[in-house]
Amino acid sequence: MAEQTTSLTMDEVAEKIQKCQKCPLYSTRNNAVPGEGNYKSPVIFVGEAPGEVEDLHGKPFIGKAGQLFTKILLSVKIEREEVFITNIIKCRPPGNRNPNKSEAETCFPYLESQIALINPKIIVTLGNIPTKYLLNSQNGISKVRGQWFDWLGGIKIFPMFHPSYLLRHEETTPGSPKELTWQDIRELKRVLEQISESDK
Ligand code: URA
Repeated sequence: MAEQTTSLTMDEVAEKIQKCQKCPLYSTRNNAVPGEGNYKSPVIFVGEAPGEVEDLHGKPFIGKAGQLFTKILLSVKIEREEVFITNIIKCRPPGNRNPNKSEAETCFPYLESQIALINPKIIVTLGNIPTKYLLNSQNGISKVRGQWFDWLGGIKIFPMFHPSYLLRHEETTPGSPKELTWQDIRELKRVLEQISESDK
């Protein structure tokens, strides 16, 4: 694993991210987006990278895709504040292009630190980019979504479609990305409830 910053607190990691100049994305960003939510959450949601609105406000998933994501969470009574929400890349790539491998590798230690500090039971990867990176696999999201994968430190990875993809695929017929996402979020909720029962 690359350099980690786990001797720091979550707020200190966020401060490092906000000041980071380790890759060229710092020169085009308005704000880095460290992530937000509950530092004791059993689940971390990991998206790709901030978009335009997130870059302007320094908060993850607050634009159109973020609003849909919030609705998906609320459909199973998960409030955003209960969980931790972040991205694999903390700065917006210009024009929302896909982050490249070198940017992902440079940024990954920040996510590693956040994972180490929160120590979640589950990481939900949203879309292809975080899913392929964390699972170290070339399998596309349609193949792996809704399945549980063992990751490091006993953490399970649960890939789901990215909400931007759902905005481009509005249909809700059986087997459509949206309908599968409602299944997936219910499955996630089921497992979170099991975890909270076994912690009592
Ligand atoms: N898309 C992402 O992957 N992350 C965000 O924070 C916003 C949009």
